[in-house]
Amino acid sequence: DCTISPRAIVDDACVSYDTLDRLNTQVKPAVDDLTRTTDFFSHYRLNLFNKRCPFWDDEAGMCGNIACAVETLDNEEDIPEAWRASELGKLEGPLAKHPGRSARSKTTPLRGELGDDVGESCVYEYDDECDERDYCVPEDESASAKGDYVSLLRNPERFTGYGGEGAKQVWDAIYRENCFQRSSFPRSADVGVSSPLGPAEHDFRQVLGAVSQHQRLTHPDDPTAGIAADDECLEKRVFYRVVSGMHASISAHLCWDFLNQTTGQWQPNLACYESRLHTHPDRISNLYFNYALVTRAVAKLGPHLESSGDYKFCTEDPREDAATRAKVLEVTQRAASVPQIFNEGLMFVNGEGPSLKEDFRNRFRNVSRLMDCVGCDKCRLWGKVQTAGYGTALKVLFEFDGLEADDVPSLKRTELVALFNTYARLSESINATGQFRHMLAEGEEEE
Ligand code: FAD
Repeated sequence: DCTISPRAIVDDACVSYDTLDRLNTQVKPAVDDLTRTTDFFSHYRLNLFNKRCPFWDDEAGMCGNIACAVETLDNEEDIPEAWRASELGKLEGPLAKHPGRSARSKTTPLRGELGDDVGESCVYEYDDECDERDYCVPEDESASAKGDYVSLLRNPERFTGYGGEGAKQVWDAIYRENCFQRSSFPRSADVGVSSPLGPAEHDFRQVLGAVSQHQRLTHPDDPTAGIAADDECLEKRVFYRVVSGMHASISAHLCWDFLNQTTGQWQPNLACYESRLHTHPDRISNLYFNYALVTRAVAKLGPHLESSGDYKFCTEDPREDAATRAKVLEVTQRAASVPQIFNEGLMFVNGEGPSLKEDFRNRFRNVSRLMDCVGCDKCRLWGKVQTAGYGTALKVLFEFDGLEADDVPSLKRTELVALFNTYARLSESINATGQFRHMLAEGEEEE
């Protein structure tokens, strides 16, 4: 039973999208439960205010400061103050400061600022070290400013009104990171399997493994397929798809949780979905691609979490620790229910592998640095969570293989929280696009 309309995103994509849609009905309740009901996964520590945009002068009004954001709404002054972009983009709820190195002691936790029942031990992190295997800039990199704790529940990712030149400049800069040196990358032919399909189809069928053995996720009009027709390499396309899929996911959330500025109601905005996603099948395809990629990373992490005694979720309360652990493992087990969803083993395998990986990693780190150029607090918060989440997924996919158990990098608390919240966000996007498709189909039937 095809859940995608006859004007399908991809003519023969029903089953492969459908496989992921069905998986998501299993994953979503578990990942929502994890990220919404545990202290550990609903609070994030990050340096939200103290870093300057490292790429351009954000004081010059060129990029996404609040003033840029306000310009994007028509007749901003006609809108009640509470609904203006500057207000919608603000963070809510208590912000707790990191206690800093001197105050670090398990016996003197900083309490009382994160919400009634949230002990600092649940959100506290001791390890500030950088790891060369990171795909994003660790939130705690800056030694002087230790960052703030933020409630992700109190600050849902949704429409903020942020846009205009400031947001465009950030997105443009993110996509420019995709300009790899052609010569330093293997061409798709180098992956080494001959196929009657074009290079893009061939590569993605391989990388997406079981999901795409029967169907392809790329559309003939997909710009990424166009890139592949030019014989671009697999790694570059994967990079592009991750970024575009993240962009698509953000668009899905802001369209799904949109403020109707006439009624003041938060509700789905079908026109927003149609213009940003439905009419761009490549973006939807990239969203599903990211879902497959992050699902694979979460599934791969499962056994490490199970076997490792390193992961303590709230050490002062063993019962809560055990409950959180059980919820994480529930998510990883459900994610593992579709085997071979993404075959990371095909990437970075040629002779240049390590240097390609480094280039890929550096570019992804730049994307994470660009989040400091986002001029809306809430958008910056979720931009940072999600780039850190994808960075963690890439680390799990590409840095965990072929190592002795002791050498596998252990993940920081912020990485784990970012990974599972990014998974929850993707799960929500897949669900929202499905609901939007139903709304469109119902509208067509009525006509
Ligand atoms: P944009 O979404 O700004 O897109 C710019 C251009 O990129 C488009 O014209 C198109 O050519 C191309 N493009 C669009 N989508 C894709 C895609 N998936 N793949 C490839 N190319 C694409 N706004 C909120 O309301 N809430 C938020 O939480 C929020 N978070 C943000 C986080 C970040 C990191 C950034 C940079 C922006 C965020 N924004 C958020 C702003 C939002 O993403 C849009 O920039 C804004 O709504 C203006 O949209 P737009 O229609 O001008 O196109």
